[in-house]
Amino acid sequence: MSQVRVRFAPSPTGFFHIGSARTALFNWLYARHTGGTFVLRIEDTDKERNSEEFLNVIYDSLRWLGMEWDEGPGKGGDFGPYRQSERDAIYKEYLEKLKAAGRTYEKDGAVYFKLLGERSEVFDEHRKKTVTKVANTPAIIDDQIRGRVERIEDEDFVIVRSDGSPVFHFVNVVDDIAMKITHVIRGEDHLSNTSKHVELFKAFGVPVPKFAHIPLILKQNGPGKMSKRDQGALIEEYQRRGYLPEALVNFLSLLGWNPGDDREKMPIAEIIRLFDLPGVNQSNARFDDKKLAHMNMTYLLELPEEKFLELARVYFEKQNVFTAGWPAETYFREVIALAHPKIKGIEELPAYTKYFFTEDFVIDDKVRAKVLSKGEPKARLAELIELLRTADLSSDLAIEDAIKKLAESKSLGFGDYQAVARLAVSGTNVGPSITGMFRVLGREKVLARLERFGATL
Ligand code: GLU
Repeated sequence: MSQVRVRFAPSPTGFFHIGSARTALFNWLYARHTGGTFVLRIEDTDKERNSEEFLNVIYDSLRWLGMEWDEGPGKGGDFGPYRQSERDAIYKEYLEKLKAAGRTYEKDGAVYFKLLGERSEVFDEHRKKTVTKVANTPAIIDDQIRGRVERIEDEDFVIVRSDGSPVFHFVNVVDDIAMKITHVIRGEDHLSNTSKHVELFKAFGVPVPKFAHIPLILKQNGPGKMSKRDQGALIEEYQRRGYLPEALVNFLSLLGWNPGDDREKMPIAEIIRLFDLPGVNQSNARFDDKKLAHMNMTYLLELPEEKFLELARVYFEKQNVFTAGWPAETYFREVIALAHPKIKGIEELPAYTKYFFTEDFVIDDKVRAKVLSKGEPKARLAELIELLRTADLSSDLAIEDAIKKLAESKSLGFGDYQAVARLAVSGTNVGPSITGMFRVLGREKVLARLERFGATL
């Protein structure tokens, strides 16, 4: 195991969204790539805004995406506890260190961190008050993604509020020190905090970890950063919709990173092998739900039949599709196998397969009008009924053969029978092959539907 220790440090103040998942993923990938340790640390010091519900969503989502943590809640480790709300004693101990080094003072009940350098009183136009400025030297951040960034902290800042609660910058740095974090990989929105963090690391007399600030994810349409309120932002929504976690992880990995060529679909082992911080882009990535849906479809298509069937079963169960009882196992299996190569997402399955499971399906008016406007559908239907009474329906090929022979005998084509037959048995003009539909539905249902529809002509 290498010395690399990274951490994902979410604040459980909202549902787990695309941006958080991507930050978690880049940390996890870096840990797996380097053979290092992936730590999960919960930054739950803001008691008002944290909730256990959000916490469980974080755990569930990380596990669902396959990002098991090596240390953290429920897992243990040498540097626990891993929830900041349980680390008061550690923060007190570290505060004492800063006090002993003469780097703190109290003002109005709050504890301030004292920067090094000459102080002077300056009137701040913006804030309309006199503030104490410190002639400090700039902090140099050698960011693994952004390159060299220089920022100056020129005002002392609060590290413990007057109510005794420690501030984010303080606990974040203390924990990175105490947990021996070597690389801080996080969203670019934290770049502006980093100079404060560097000052604190230095004050504690410890080496500054390497920083890597990941570019933002822009919302799909329009300017600005994607937020948890944006459509498609929440991870659990994809879980609910039957997306494949492997597809989501692959998609997330490409939000701000690429393997150095234009490959997109890659097994996770390959992503781990190729992922590195210098490979992360500096420019922002734009969220694209169509790209995600397409990625998911390519993964679904490759899924072995058994796995696809299992996903379908779970989805139908969750959606409570079969309120009047489940269809026979072999029948369900055959229907799902027919739909597998045709659908873009699991969530399409119930509507796509509806007419296999009920006689109560709608005949699309527009399709009906179109189909009936051509040729002699009534005659074709009658011929087909005649044929299907005795034809061999045991394989798609046999069915195709029979219909072709019938068509030839009338100097017509397969298509002359197909549209009207499809409409009669499914109510629409899209779906799996008509031969597959006949085979799976079986003689009895097919004949009943053709006759029922024929009677309306
Ligand atoms: N708790 C911070 C957040 O959720 C993470 C800060 C960090 O990664 O350093 O944004």
